[in-house]
Amino acid sequence: MTPPRSADYVVVGAGSAGCVLARRLLETTDGTVVVLEAGGSPDELGSSTDPTRWVENIGAGHDWTYTYGPEPGLDGRTLLLSRGRVLGGSGSTNALVWVRGQRADYDGWAAGGATGWGYDEVLPFFRRSEDWQDGASALRGAGGPVRVERCTDLHPVAQALVEAGVSHGMPYLDDINVAEPVGAGPINVDAHDGVRTSTWTGHLRPVLDHERLTVVTGAHVTGLTLRGGRCVGVGFRVDGETHEIRAGRETVLCAGSIDSPRLLLSSGIGPAEHLRAVGVEPVLDLPGVGENLQEHPILAGLCFEAAEELPPLRDNLEGSMAFWRSAPDVAVPDLTFVSVQIPYVSAEVAAAHPVPANAFVLAPGVMRVRSRGRLRLTADGGVDLRSNMLTDPADVDAAVAGVEIGLELADQPAFRKLVARRVAPGATDRASLEQFVRRAAMPYFHPVGTCAMGTDEHAVVDPQLRVRGVEGLRVADASVMPTITSANTNAPTVMIAERAAELIA
Ligand SMILES: Cc1cc2nc3c(=O)[nH]c(=O)nc-3n(C[C@H](O)[C@H](O)[C@H](O)COP(=O)(O)OP(=O)(O)OC[C@H]3O[C@@H](n4cnc5c(N)ncnc54)[C@H](O)[C@@H]3O)c2cc1C
Repeated sequence: MTPPRSADYVVVGAGSAGCVLARRLLETTDGTVVVLEAGGSPDELGSSTDPTRWVENIGAGHDWTYTYGPEPGLDGRTLLLSRGRVLGGSGSTNALVWVRGQRADYDGWAAGGATGWGYDEVLPFFRRSEDWQDGASALRGAGGPVRVERCTDLHPVAQALVEAGVSHGMPYLDDINVAEPVGAGPINVDAHDGVRTSTWTGHLRPVLDHERLTVVTGAHVTGLTLRGGRCVGVGFRVDGETHEIRAGRETVLCAGSIDSPRLLLSSGIGPAEHLRAVGVEPVLDLPGVGENLQEHPILAGLCFEAAEELPPLRDNLEGSMAFWRSAPDVAVPDLTFVSVQIPYVSAEVAAAHPVPANAFVLAPGVMRVRSRGRLRLTADGGVDLRSNMLTDPADVDAAVAGVEIGLELADQPAFRKLVARRVAPGATDRASLEQFVRRAAMPYFHPVGTCAMGTDEHAVVDPQLRVRGVEGLRVADASVMPTITSANTNAPTVMIAERAAELIA
C-alpha cells in the first residue's frame, strides 16, 4: 500500500492513546484520519493475548527496549524500560491492571493549572471507555470499547494479600476504581474470559474498514514538518523509504512519554540550549520538553520460598492489590502492594539472595513520587533517560516504609501458612533496608510527564493539549500528565485520549 499523502488528522502512534483518539475522531468529526504506527499487529502474539504471559513482552522484538540510567538513586544501576512497539502500544504488552488512581491526582492537576482536568470533570471520560462487568453506575461505565473484569477465584498468593491486608487493618476493597481507593481487594483487568482487551481490540480494530480511516503499520515517524509556526504534517519511513504526509487540520502526537518528546526535540521544539548542544537547530524554545519525567519504583521484591508447590499461574500473575499509606499522617495512600506469583526480583537482589524456583514475591510500589527525571537527545539521535527514582529522600522513606509494611503483611496468618522461609530482604534495620530498596527498585514502566500540561513556563501543552507556541499540533498520551497518578497509568492515559477527541472536535 502506498501511504496516503494527506489527511485532515494525522495521529502519530497507535498505542493506548492513539487507538482511542483515531476511533473517536471518526465519531466526533467529519475528517479523514491517518494513523502512523511503527509496530505491527499483536493479534498472533500469545504474549499479548494471554494475560499470564505478559512478562514475555519485556525485551521482546516488539519492545522499544529503552533504558534508564545510570541511576544515581539506585546505586548507579541501568534498568530496562519496556515500551510496546505494536498496535495498541504498551496497552498491548502491559500487565493489564485497569485502575484510575486517586481523586486527589486529578484535583491536583487542576489546581496546578490543568484547568478542566479535576476528578469530577474527567470521570465521564473514564466511564466512556469501559465496559465494566458489574454494569453502569455513577462511577463505572458499561458498553464502552474496553471490557474490564474483576479477578475472581484468586491464586493463593493473591488471596493471601487480600486476607493479610484485612487482618492487618485495611478495608476490603471490592472495586479498586472507586474515587479514593484504600485497602486490599481483587484487581480489575482489561480482559474478557482470560483474553486481553485493549484500545487496539476495543477502539481501533473494530473500525479498521471505516472509509475515512487509514492505519499504516511499520511506519516510523522521524520528524514534524513545521512552516511558519505551524505543524503541517510529519515525515516517516516505511521499509526504508521516506514519505511525507500533510495534515489539513491537526497533527496529534500519541507516541508515548518517550517518543512524543523525542519527536518534538528532534524537530527543534524544546530547551534551546540543550538542542544546540546536540546539533539540532532550535525552532521554538520550550524548556519543559523532556523534563519532569516521573516513574513509579516497584520494589522487586520481598521474596518468600513457598511451603508447598504453588499452583499454575493465574490472571495477570497478580490478581489482587492493596492501597495504603506509608505513615499514618499521609493524606492520600502513597503505596501499593501486589503479590506476584513468580519470584520477580531484581538482578541485584537475586545475586545477594539465591532465589528458589518455588517462590513468590510481595512487591511494594511507591506511588506519589517526588523524584523527577528527564529525557534528553544524544548527539547521535538517540535518547538519554534518567528516571532519578529514589533521589528524593521522601521517596526513600516511603520505599522503606513499604518494605516494613510488606513484612508486616507477610507476617499475617494468611501469608504465614504459605511461607517456608523469607528469602529477601535479609537484615531489616534502617540502613540495610535503605540499601535493599535501592537495589530492589525496578521501573513499573509508567513514565509520564515529559510533555506536561499546564499554563506556566514549564508546560509543554496547554489544558486543551495544544503544544504551546505551535499551531496545528497537540500531544495526547501519558506524557501530558503534569504529575503521575497514584496507581498504574494505562486507564488514565485512555481517559486523556477520550477527552482529547472531545477537545479537538
Ligand atoms: C510491560 C509493561 C507493563 C505495564 N503494566 C501496566 C499495567 O498493568 N497497568 C497500567 O495501567 N499500566 C501499565 N503499564 C503502563 C501503560 O501501559 C502505559 O502507561 C500506557 O500504555 C501508555 O500509553 P501511551 O499511549 O502513552 O503510549 P504507548 O501505549 O506506549 O503507545 C505509543 C505508541 O506509539 C508508537 N510509536 C512510538 N514512536 C513512534 C514513531 N516515531 N513513529 C510511529 N509510531 C511510534 C509505539 O510503537 C506505540 O504503539 C505497563 C507498561 C509496560 C510497558
